[in-house]
Amino acid sequence: MAGIARNVLVAGARVAGTACSEVLLDRGAAVTVYDRDDSERLRALAARGARTATGEFDPALLDGIEQVVLSPGFPPHHPIAVAARDAGIETFSEPELAWRLREPGAARWLAVTGTNGKTTTTTMLAAMLEAAGLRTAALGNIGVPLVHAANGPYDVIAVELSSYQLHWSASLAPTAGAVLNLAPDHLDWHGGFDAYSEAKAAVWRGGRAVANLDDPAVVALAKHTDAHVTGFTLNQPEPGQFGVALGYLVDYTGGEPVQICSVDLVRPAGWHNVANALAAAALAREAGVGHAEIAEAIRKYTPEPHRNVAFTEHEGVTWVDDSKATNPHAAAAALAAYDSVVWVAGGQLKGVDVDSLVAEYAHKLRAAVLIGQDRALIADALARHAPDLPVAVLDGGDDAVMTDVAARAAGFAQPGDTVLLSPAAASYDMFRSYAHRGDAFADAVRRLLGEDAG
Ligand code: ADP
Repeated sequence: MAGIARNVLVAGARVAGTACSEVLLDRGAAVTVYDRDDSERLRALAARGARTATGEFDPALLDGIEQVVLSPGFPPHHPIAVAARDAGIETFSEPELAWRLREPGAARWLAVTGTNGKTTTTTMLAAMLEAAGLRTAALGNIGVPLVHAANGPYDVIAVELSSYQLHWSASLAPTAGAVLNLAPDHLDWHGGFDAYSEAKAAVWRGGRAVANLDDPAVVALAKHTDAHVTGFTLNQPEPGQFGVALGYLVDYTGGEPVQICSVDLVRPAGWHNVANALAAAALAREAGVGHAEIAEAIRKYTPEPHRNVAFTEHEGVTWVDDSKATNPHAAAAALAAYDSVVWVAGGQLKGVDVDSLVAEYAHKLRAAVLIGQDRALIADALARHAPDLPVAVLDGGDDAVMTDVAARAAGFAQPGDTVLLSPAAASYDMFRSYAHRGDAFADAVRRLLGEDAG
């Protein structure tokens, strides 16, 4: 089994890096922590006995180092990753460290990855496991480091894994893993779509694969796996698959199709969330959860914030916060769900093309309000595909711009319209996070409408 060496360098001292450093120190490893910036966390680790380094990365830091744990902020082309590779030093991510540190009897892992829907599916899965009386938690990329929790009092855990985390994982092998979908995202980090897709296939290493049959890129990936594949589809399932028939989620992996529950019970609404529920159900079945418990969990599921949430309605206009749509694939899922939309979009496109999204959904737009670093790229696409569409391109560089956004959107909207914040881009150019962006939008809208911004 892959193990942990004595001399380990941890790159990054934010949530994941700090958790890894703490666990390694507890185990008596000689830990070096590198972060470009000094911080409270780094000083606290130094006080606990870690060697710390800040500023530009100095390759001499790797002298005597046997393993490197990289935080998500360190892409494969980062000087540390390159220097470690050149020196033949093993490199891995926080979930891989957690996997290696599992104690006998530790929880089984059910893993979820994909471009979009990870958090929704992971929390749905945890709800299903809980409904069956299993001790469980939703962990991983969702915010709770695995190194702290994987040896906790759980039977089976719902683990969200990002492509970054999977890229640096050579041995972790969940009991079963789902790939939800694959669309261009984070290409600047991975250096291309193929590398990005291949990273995701690591969730199937344990031998049980759940795969989206409606996504050609996932189907192509599944062709190359040795794992047993259970497919899910929004169409009628064939034997061995999960799918939808006569308005019901159906499990056809046994001899007979079993109706789980009506698609109308799935929240948040939208076909993409029915797909997420099918993936969660397929994973839950791998842990032996019954169909009745799966249905109960779907019925009771509370959606996560900032994912296609209608937060107010005023004079026939519905206002929706889908700030978590940080790439065009996610924005497409939201745009597909409404008929006449005032679209609020923009931010950092991360090298991903927005043209095909705009080409597909321009006919649904009443108007657009664009913000953020890459607003001109979206404006150009709109000019190509909807030259007569009213478009407001706003210049503000911080969260105060949302006051203007709300006013311009309200000016465009007509009764029956949806004003949809679904940016198709990351938020970090103007906001601390997607949550900050969504809250700033909702607060500005409530102020405009004279509601209590709470
Ligand atoms: P992730 O954790 O992968 O970012 P989330 O569940 O947080 O996924 O959802 C992120 C965004 O993607 C939201 O805007 C949501 O509405 C959208 N989304 C959720 N599931 C899917 C899906 N299966 N396909 C496309 N978009 C989705």
